[in-house]
Amino acid sequence: MNSDKKLDRCVLCGKYTALTFEHIPPRKALNNTPIRSYNGFDVMVDGEKMPWDFNGRKYKIMQKGMGLSTLCEKCNNNTGSWYAKDYGDFSNKMYLTVNNATVPNDKTVYAICTGIYPLRIFKQIICMFLSVNNLFELNELQNFVKDRYTNVFFKNKYRVYMYINNGEYLKMIPISTIGKLGEGSNVFKDMQSITISELTTIPLGFVLCLNNDDKSMCFGVDITGFCDYSYDDKVDLEIPLLFKEVNTSIPIDFRTKEEVEETVLNNKNISEVINNEQ
Ligand SMILES: [Zn+2]
Repeated sequence: MNSDKKLDRCVLCGKYTALTFEHIPPRKALNNTPIRSYNGFDVMVDGEKMPWDFNGRKYKIMQKGMGLSTLCEKCNNNTGSWYAKDYGDFSNKMYLTVNNATVPNDKTVYAICTGIYPLRIFKQIICMFLSVNNLFELNELQNFVKDRYTNVFFKNKYRVYMYINNGEYLKMIPISTIGKLGEGSNVFKDMQSITISELTTIPLGFVLCLNNDDKSMCFGVDITGFCDYSYDDKVDLEIPLLFKEVNTSIPIDFRTKEEVEETVLNNKNISEVINNEQ
């Protein structure tokens, strides 16, 4: 058997079979060269170096680019021909628009994107999230991707946000719940939580949001409305592009390098105070 193939369940159709390598994002979207893959936890816990300093860290080479063996051959071929090319065109147009742009963190610029297929792009994004998560409970999302024409997407339950990756990292973050303590007298009572999955590529980053109590958090521009187009709708859209720095492996962390350095320094000072008191 081809060594690229492993036996498991396809994340889309659920069939137990030999799985094929799914490029995340598609090969055509600047993902056709080997990349170095680092364990996000290793990069996070090393207090000696900043998270964007990869010198001397352990890594694995992913020869084919970023991706996972998650789809059976049939699903890989279907999604490849239905969505991947048009997603790739969109991503490359975005890259040409934002490459060399010097836009500060959290700033938005508007771009006219011509001749794009919003529904195909959106289904490719959901397909990538299914691969990243490998969860079979997400069958509403599976059905949405398996049928290229359907518009049935549960918008009250799932939202998708897009940002421009203005940093160093590529990330694949499975569904995670992040809690934020409240600011009132009872920090636990006022605690808010966010359940998200994140996919950061070049130049686009996406956040699939499953619940968000904290409406003040901004992950990018909400593109969930892409699901309402028809499969063959080809349109020109003015899209707001929100630039976000991605400098760590922490989910939905858009701090600038200066902000991360400040936090590291503050944490060091706190631990020195604790050590001195002991
Ligand atoms: Zn399949």
